[in-house]
Amino acid sequence: MDASLEPVFEQVLRRNPGEAEFHQAVREVFDSLAPVLRRNPQYGDAAVLERICEPERQIIFRVPWVDDSGRVQINRGFRVEYNSALGPYKGGLRFHPSVYLGIVKFLGFEQVFKNALTGMPIGGGKGGADFDPRGRSDGEVMRFCQSFMTELYRHLGEHTDVPAGDVGVGGREIGYLFGQYKRITNRYESGVLTGKGVGWGGSLVRTEATGYGTVLFAQEMLRTRGRSFDGLRVAVSGAGNVAIYAIEKAQQLGARVVAFSDSSGYVVDEAGVDLELLKAVKEVQRGRAADYVAQRPGAHLATAGRIWDVPVEVALPCATQNELDGADAKALLSHGVLAVAEGANMPTTPDGVSLLQEGGVLFAPGKAANAGGVATSALEMQQNASRDSWTFEGTEERLTEIMAGIHDRCASTADEHDGPGDYVLGANIAGFRRVADAVLALGLV
Ligand code: GLU
Repeated sequence: MDASLEPVFEQVLRRNPGEAEFHQAVREVFDSLAPVLRRNPQYGDAAVLERICEPERQIIFRVPWVDDSGRVQINRGFRVEYNSALGPYKGGLRFHPSVYLGIVKFLGFEQVFKNALTGMPIGGGKGGADFDPRGRSDGEVMRFCQSFMTELYRHLGEHTDVPAGDVGVGGREIGYLFGQYKRITNRYESGVLTGKGVGWGGSLVRTEATGYGTVLFAQEMLRTRGRSFDGLRVAVSGAGNVAIYAIEKAQQLGARVVAFSDSSGYVVDEAGVDLELLKAVKEVQRGRAADYVAQRPGAHLATAGRIWDVPVEVALPCATQNELDGADAKALLSHGVLAVAEGANMPTTPDGVSLLQEGGVLFAPGKAANAGGVATSALEMQQNASRDSWTFEGTEERLTEIMAGIHDRCASTADEHDGPGDYVLGANIAGFRRVADAVLALGLV
């Protein structure tokens, strides 16, 4: 990090003690910013960086609910309304036991730049709860969502703050959350949440968008080296919404996806993942990797070792933060990996990123590569505002254009700042500049 940025970073550490993931996300952006701050002294004069590092509003609340055995359970809910210079706060809700303020802030910080990179009118925010939906009945999930929204609704609005899903929050949860919002406010305010069901205000392609977008971004990167997905071996970590649709798009482009994972281990399926089976296991049965293997001759489940030991040309980390470290990067390099694109948020550790970049691998950071999800959320908001619904083909075409636009913005910004091919530099600077210019234009806010 440039010495001129150290005092600002120290302030971030002091203000946010113990929030390791947040510190990591801020440091990673700061590492890219020295050239842009040198060229634009107005940002420093107006303390733009200090303002961007301090969320506009942080909401923490108690979520009481009753489980199926009649016991009262208490969780902690969060919404960090990070930055609204470009539009209403926009970003998902994560329900996972690991959620605490530092995770929500790191995700909110990333979201601000990601949303800016899409070129769309959306600010950044993130929320969630330390609730674990795993093993909970539908009734328990519904009661939890209702209680969560009973507090959160007062902070939301289609022009104010528009949540969506993230880990642990999919179509079912968005339905329960929307139902409670509608009931409390007596408003059918479709644009207040995205990721809704397509029959009641949702957008086609939203479910697929993050995974599709990640692969489309990787395709753009491969194209710069005259390559395509056709015939390449691919590993995709995770087995949630992002992973499933990354697998689908990679297969559509002719790749062979030979591995995926979940929290129980990773599956190697040399014949190529059977996507229909994976969808049935994960989306319908809410099952585990072992259930896939039990129904798929030739596939095996590894419970020791790492998915990144499987030899592939493209690696798509689509599970969670810090899931691909330096040792994994070395394993991938030893097998001649060409490209790594982050479908999850910050899945690669800083030493993992450096090793891959030094090894000449095309590396796409999550804030660029997984922006297709939130971009399609913005398309959902457009449809809601005009009380319209678009076709699958038309919406996918918009997503494809948006991902190509993000790719080109990252690539040209990296070129301008003497880092050709450095998508981390390009994404951080392009995202930062759009937010910083809006913050400056709006005066002291
Ligand atoms: N949670 C997703 C993300 O990390 C989507 C957010 C949204 O659609 O608002 O970008």
